[in-house]
Amino acid sequence: MTRYIFITGGVVSSLGKGLTSAALGALLQARGYGVRLRKLDPYLNVDPGTLSPFEHGEVFVTDDGAETDLDIGHYERFTGVAASALDSTSSGRIYQSVLEKERQGEYLGDTIQVIPHVTDEIKRFISQEFENTDFMLCELGGTVGDIEGLPFFEAIRQFAQDKGTNNCVFIHVTLIPYLDVCNEIKTKPTQHSVKELRSIGISPDILVCRSNLPIPDKERNKIALFCNVKQNAVISSPDLKSIYEAPTLYHEQGLDLAVLNAFGLENVPEANLKKWYEVKNRIANPEGKVRVAIVGKYTGLDDAYKSISEALTHGGIANHVEVETKWIQAEVFEEEDPAPYLTGCHAILIPGGFGKRGSEGKIKAAGFARRNRIPYFGICLGMQMAVIELVRDVLGIDSAGSEEFSLEGIENSVEELTPVIFYLKKWIQNGEKVTRTSNDEMGATMRLGAYPAMLTEGSLVAEIYGSNEISERHRHRYEVDIKYKDRLEKEGVVFSGLSPDGNLPEIMEIKNHPWFVGVQFHPELKSQPFSPHPLFAGFIEAAIKRSRLV
Ligand code: GLN
Repeated sequence: MTRYIFITGGVVSSLGKGLTSAALGALLQARGYGVRLRKLDPYLNVDPGTLSPFEHGEVFVTDDGAETDLDIGHYERFTGVAASALDSTSSGRIYQSVLEKERQGEYLGDTIQVIPHVTDEIKRFISQEFENTDFMLCELGGTVGDIEGLPFFEAIRQFAQDKGTNNCVFIHVTLIPYLDVCNEIKTKPTQHSVKELRSIGISPDILVCRSNLPIPDKERNKIALFCNVKQNAVISSPDLKSIYEAPTLYHEQGLDLAVLNAFGLENVPEANLKKWYEVKNRIANPEGKVRVAIVGKYTGLDDAYKSISEALTHGGIANHVEVETKWIQAEVFEEEDPAPYLTGCHAILIPGGFGKRGSEGKIKAAGFARRNRIPYFGICLGMQMAVIELVRDVLGIDSAGSEEFSLEGIENSVEELTPVIFYLKKWIQNGEKVTRTSNDEMGATMRLGAYPAMLTEGSLVAEIYGSNEISERHRHRYEVDIKYKDRLEKEGVVFSGLSPDGNLPEIMEIKNHPWFVGVQFHPELKSQPFSPHPLFAGFIEAAIKRSRLV
């Protein structure tokens, strides 16, 4: 039997509901339970694929090709359970399927309403079952009181009635602000938020209270009294140095036990948190430090490259070092020499990205890494930029570029450009042919999700992976043109990973370079603290070697 845990938020957004959900999932797993995590987002976009990373953070991609919220990435990193398209939805998607059903005549005779049609659709989403799921954790995006969120709150209220309130537990994550002027922490916003939740028929069982500092017992007891929850059900969630401290911190305060008790479960298995304490200790006691430059576009918002920064941390865990990241706006290099920015860094990473802005700067950074023998990791767009740099500099084709940029019509016209990176119109997915045209819609028209690649025996990446066949997640429209393979290989480049039909370059590396790897996919999406992605572990290892040289 599956039990359900709903995680809602109050007072303000960005309190880390996703992390709380992920950490709780990990704690329940540590007691031997099977968990699954789901996210319900109130916005009207059908998926976050078209949302700006500046505003909404990165788009996380699942194996089955769903473009999801970055919280899904936290769920996977903390629990190791691979998410699927069934684990993330939005108001847009819910309404889309209600309207499709309406057009197909499924509700003939009915007036379509939020209650029951939209709420039924939400309940149907929540109750899609998976094997080995003792606990289904469902996080509601947004904050209680948001207009868009109301159908979701109503749906989970009904859901608890349908399933029996013993089978559903509600966790509310709120803010406890500290006021400097009176040197006090304030519980009133939390009281109001709980009142708001109650007014729509949901009484929280557990409160997770975010604050800068730990909340003293006196205030915890006050919150319990005023918000009608048990004293041990008020969990203090202070700011942490590392997100990976969250599970042990919550456990020490009894979050997992409080949740299990709220279900009426008393004699529960002990939690084995050995691996979480180990990760926490490794992060707290590094044996060294390396500095990695990340040359990208969305460097103003931490969340825009969430999985990249987490995967770098994992690479550090694997090598017992702290990874310091230096974020650099690629555009800077269009005007300025990269040397003063990059010389002090032990490795350079160019992450995925879209659009022309900053691309010439990225090409310069890739060239700088190549010539100065600095470890380089190009991810998706980062691989494409490295290939353009090589074709221009090594093959002498100055007009080499990407169709992505000429299509934007900013600088080069198609006639002037030599498209080394081209718009892919036909490819094979799971044995089936996929086709598209340049005029297709923008939403979900990319090569998305897991694809296999075959690795060249004896190459650096084959050694790193310890295998000749891999599967990695993709999210892009453009590809490196295979026709440059032979010419570049004569110059010391190795196309060491190809699609199974041999048509699409998936990985390139440079032979006589300490570590220069470009990948067309997103390895960061599969990295976890307990199993750091081998490419990130290898990249950080190369950065350590470099740090000993300079
Ligand atoms: N913009 C490039 C493409 O669509 C790269 C995408 C990415 O880096 N994820 O192919």
